[in-house]
Amino acid sequence: MTLLSSHSMLKELTLTNVSVGYDGGAVVKNASFQLMEGQIGCLLGPSGCGKSTLLRAIAGFESLMTGEICVDDQVISSQTISVNPEHRHIGMVFQDIALFPHLTIAQNIAFGLSAWPKEVAQQRVMYLLDLVGLTGFQARYPHSLSGGQQQRVALARAIAPKPKLLLMDEPFSGLDAKLREELVPDIRAILQHEKMSALLVTHDQMEAFAMADQVSVMDAGVIHQTGSPYQIYHRPETRFVASFIGHGDFLPATVCGPDCVHSDLGNIRGELHHGFADHALVDLLVRPDDILHDDDSEFVGVIVSKWFRGSHFLYRVKLSSGKVVYCFASSHHNHAVGQEIGLSVHLDHLVMFQRQ
Ligand code: ADP
Ligand code: MG
Repeated sequence: MTLLSSHSMLKELTLTNVSVGYDGGAVVKNASFQLMEGQIGCLLGPSGCGKSTLLRAIAGFESLMTGEICVDDQVISSQTISVNPEHRHIGMVFQDIALFPHLTIAQNIAFGLSAWPKEVAQQRVMYLLDLVGLTGFQARYPHSLSGGQQQRVALARAIAPKPKLLLMDEPFSGLDAKLREELVPDIRAILQHEKMSALLVTHDQMEAFAMADQVSVMDAGVIHQTGSPYQIYHRPETRFVASFIGHGDFLPATVCGPDCVHSDLGNIRGELHHGFADHALVDLLVRPDDILHDDDSEFVGVIVSKWFRGSHFLYRVKLSSGKVVYCFASSHHNHAVGQEIGLSVHLDHLVMFQRQ
């Protein structure tokens, strides 16, 4: 049996053509990505797309149909190799926090430290209590803590034995939005402070953006793209990624040169990313931040609906062609539905796909 060296940091996690399934049917198909030391990765996709299945395969609870999973240079899963979950030095945090109700907070955090010398373990517990902002809570029981505090304890318990990698399956989805907004950056800071490599599973892109250095967007068992939050928002490589991430519309357009595309928004010049030939018929991705309200512009549209977002308005405006697009306006520009407003177009990088 292979045993990974313990208490050393992960250099990299590498998945190569990993397929996982139940009863012969693949639920995750040919998944490949790499997570480097100290990085926080994320599997982002709609419910049922196979995120938890892939996470469980990394933890060693599902066997592989194809491919391999390596930690550093060592294969931990393949069709023939499967390192025991308890020998992988991988920590896990789940949505249902599942602290032990009959153990104190200190005992919960110390749970994975039974093999440590008592004093060292105690020091580690105190250090972690401080790290997650719960100094003084050591003698309390889980039921007397709020949901957010319990989730911090769950995190402390998972990282206590210094795992090489922390896996988190929708750890924030049981918490209300406000609490989540506070907790997510805190947890990111804690993981970074500990230089802990982690992989988060979520269906919530805002959570993915706030937490992860690297996001893998999944749909129906397939990883469509792995990249930084900025890359997957601004440089989506597939139509699914373009429509799943953020708001946007596709406008029919025609390529009119090496750096030019023509659509209802006129001729737009910018970097073309998909290598389409001249005159190719494409769908151009237009995001809300690509079209700004501008009183001085002669290019206009009619407001069909609006949302007040506090810092700004998000309008839906109908162009003369009948196409409807999003438009951003600062929150002082409060216009009525039915009103015609000036628009200025700010598409820098042109994202387009073959016309459907
Ligand atoms: P996600 O975490 O993205 O919501 P899952 O990995 O939980 O998705 O599930 C992916 C697919 O695999 C779903 O269709 C689900 O019904 C199926 N599935 C999950 N767990 C099992 C299981 N133990 N046995 C059979 N099918 C399963
Ligand atoms: Mg899941």
